[in-house]
Amino acid sequence: MKWVYFFDEGSMEMKDLLGGKGAGLAEMTRIGLPVPPGFTITTEACREYLKKGGEFPEGLWEQVREAMRNLEDITGKSFGSEDNPLLVSVRSGAPISMPGMMDTILNLGLNDSSVLGLAKQTDNPRFAWDSYRRLIQMFGSVVMGIPRDEFEEQLERIKESCGAKTDVDLTVDALKEVVEAYKEVYRRYGKEFPQDPYRQLEYAIRAVFESWNNERAITYRKINKIPDDLGTAVNIVTMVFGNMGEDSGTGVAFTRDPRSGEKHLYGEFLPNAQGEDVVAGIRTPHAINEYSKQDANRHLPTLEELMPDIYSELLEIAEKLERHYRDMQDIEFTIERGKLYILQTRSGKRTARAAVRIAVEMVNEGLITKEEAVLRVTPSQVDTLLHPQVDPSAPKREIAKGLAASPGAAVGTVVFDPDRAVELVESGKKVVLVRPETTPDDIHGMHAAEGILTARGGMTSHAAVVARAMGKPAVVGCEEIKVYPREGYFVARDGAMVKEGDVITIDGTTGSVYLGEVPLIMPSIGGELETLLKWADEIRTLGIRANADTPEQAYRAREFGAEGIGLARTEHMFFGEDRLPIMREMIMARTREERMAALEKLLPMQRSDFVEFFRAMEGYPVIIRLLDPPLHEFLPPREELLEKINELKMKLLKADSLKEMDGIIHEIQATEEVLRVVTALQEFNPMLGFRGCRLGLIYPEIYEMQVRAIIQAAIQVKKEGREIYPEIMIPLVGHSNELRTLRETLEKVADEELKKADVEIDYKFGTMIEVPRAALTADEIARYAEFFSFGTNDLTQMTFGYSRDDAQAKFLAKYVEMKVLPEDPFRVLDRGGVGQLIRIAVEKGRKTKPDLEVGICGEHGGEPSSIEFCHMVGLDYVSCSPYRVPVARLAAAQAALRHPRR
Ligand code: PEP
Ligand code: MG
Repeated sequence: MKWVYFFDEGSMEMKDLLGGKGAGLAEMTRIGLPVPPGFTITTEACREYLKKGGEFPEGLWEQVREAMRNLEDITGKSFGSEDNPLLVSVRSGAPISMPGMMDTILNLGLNDSSVLGLAKQTDNPRFAWDSYRRLIQMFGSVVMGIPRDEFEEQLERIKESCGAKTDVDLTVDALKEVVEAYKEVYRRYGKEFPQDPYRQLEYAIRAVFESWNNERAITYRKINKIPDDLGTAVNIVTMVFGNMGEDSGTGVAFTRDPRSGEKHLYGEFLPNAQGEDVVAGIRTPHAINEYSKQDANRHLPTLEELMPDIYSELLEIAEKLERHYRDMQDIEFTIERGKLYILQTRSGKRTARAAVRIAVEMVNEGLITKEEAVLRVTPSQVDTLLHPQVDPSAPKREIAKGLAASPGAAVGTVVFDPDRAVELVESGKKVVLVRPETTPDDIHGMHAAEGILTARGGMTSHAAVVARAMGKPAVVGCEEIKVYPREGYFVARDGAMVKEGDVITIDGTTGSVYLGEVPLIMPSIGGELETLLKWADEIRTLGIRANADTPEQAYRAREFGAEGIGLARTEHMFFGEDRLPIMREMIMARTREERMAALEKLLPMQRSDFVEFFRAMEGYPVIIRLLDPPLHEFLPPREELLEKINELKMKLLKADSLKEMDGIIHEIQATEEVLRVVTALQEFNPMLGFRGCRLGLIYPEIYEMQVRAIIQAAIQVKKEGREIYPEIMIPLVGHSNELRTLRETLEKVADEELKKADVEIDYKFGTMIEVPRAALTADEIARYAEFFSFGTNDLTQMTFGYSRDDAQAKFLAKYVEMKVLPEDPFRVLDRGGVGQLIRIAVEKGRKTKPDLEVGICGEHGGEPSSIEFCHMVGLDYVSCSPYRVPVARLAAAQAALRHPRR
């Protein structure tokens, strides 16, 4: 079995086997970039190792030793040598990028004698001893599990005792003292730093394998839905040193600006430093060019200024990499004594805005196709772009400014501890997580928070990278604040003290931090997003409609690209101040006549709503659903009425005139009458009770009024010369007889109106499929319907038997956590159960009526995975809330590309 691949043996195609980093190094070697030589141990070896409970698979160790001998030949150095030592780094690399999750060890191969060799060879004993102490430190924490702080403590102690301000100020003797102190730390933990370099190598490989199952890695996989059984590869790479003097350095460059997407090399670097110095954020990184400068490093010379030749080589490599990978790259580089090495390249993480711009510009540059562009932007990135922004005209008090690391604005209660953040969010609060800086241990808190604010770290710090990936607004490196997490407060620029529980607003687009809640505004779509979504429209086969309950929502939906209304819930129109009393009158009516009188008043109101809907969606279909909820929802709750009656009775006792008494008595009687009706309407399980078409059948006048209003509105708008397509939808049908009976009556009403007006309108009559029985008998139901619309909220409720009002809060979140269910089925359509009912209904319905129009209007209509399923089972359209329309357009196009319809 081959467990080990030299870089020149692999390629990008071998990502599953070599991990992302290993495959990347192999590919870069293949295209002739200056990569330090090395090899990769496969993910298969890791899986085998973990399966065997921590035992190297057969032959692995021999192959590693063989590869090391090879490396010695290539570099002319030797592992553990006192004269010319070969040093390597050991890095993890999973098939899917997991930033900051896995551990890396540098300078492996140094020991008490090879450190002298390195000192001699480089003529730089300070550097050699510094590298050695770094190795002992890293090895101690990563491999031996000794707390990091133990080493930090020693380092600080010695720095203080010799008056060194930073690590760089430590002398050789001081560093030797550090090494001894570190070894002593090992001993206190009953361990020993291994002097045998092969021992070091073996332990390090084991540590990388095992880091696959550390807590941070597991959490990251859980949040990002990465399978647990991929394993990580181990990359063993010849060390190159960025800390060998002023002609050395290390840095990170993006081939395009990861914030805006602008086509410009963007990055930062530290002269005379190793990679970990950049991550640690102790020294302020320099910009690589003028373009990348921030306030914090404006005064520092750029790479372009310091090493112009290296900079132009980097530029050339950046272009080569983009052409090769056809995507924006995130490049890690090191300069060792004037020679540039590329250590890593990968598709760069980017903000949503940058993702869209890069995708669109790369199509325009002829680098990728429109289809690729559409697949490169995720629906959640589009969602991010529709995230709130700070209202520029609102009054606000800026208390600090930091780096604008991840765009969008967030308002929330300040919280300093990630566990506390999760706790508060679970209790229904919105929070902003404030930290000195973040580490992978904070991931769960970042996930829960609306936004993230850190005092330290640059644009490539952990907080910045992770927030961008999560699509959360973040302001990082905000050095104007001092954070005291343990004490639970931070001090702002002007000295203001902000405590846990105080509300702040952060703007990740500008870097500003404001005290209190600043009003946010929703952005509209335009520019590159518009272009991308137009391409998506050309590709998708699913129609996109919107759920809209008000004409404003309908107009907004159309702006966002909706092609009709898939659901207008008419009941929402009865809750207005002017309408609710009439609605109550209608419900309280004792006779048909009384009811008719109330309905007569409601009719013109409904008609005017519908007129606006038809105008907003001119040229497109508009589905209006007849009344659905149980009637008690329009009446006050029982408890409220009882209380009111008691209050009135107390008032009666104190009344001092007959006239007043009469008034109160009258009021008591009226309230008691409402109470009587409420009591009569009371149900044990209203969701499964007297609602939907059941109401329509028992009180036909209600639906008749609504149909009259719809048709009258249609006639009016048609007379305005507009093209309209009304669709009348009956909710909650479970038996074809329900639909047949209603259709007979309602069609008569509609035709009567049309005849009266002498107008012809092509309207459709259809039903929701939201009761399992309706799905199972869809062939019969289709006889009386021209269209179906899946109400997957109710269909999920009734298929699982989970109350849609209670399940999520009571147990569904726990279910998902315990992996009893893969997802919350009210959010992501359950393909296995609810999806089967949809399949059956589509098939049976179309068997009866081949041209049956079929869509979905439950919440799932705006969720990307559910949209994919809708595409796969051949629905005609999805319908979702207006703000999700752009997301749905993209998701539908991606579904079409992934599952072409035959
Ligand atoms: C549904 O049940 O999916 C639906 C769209 O109707 P409502 O949410 O109004 O019950
Ligand atoms: Mg429903």
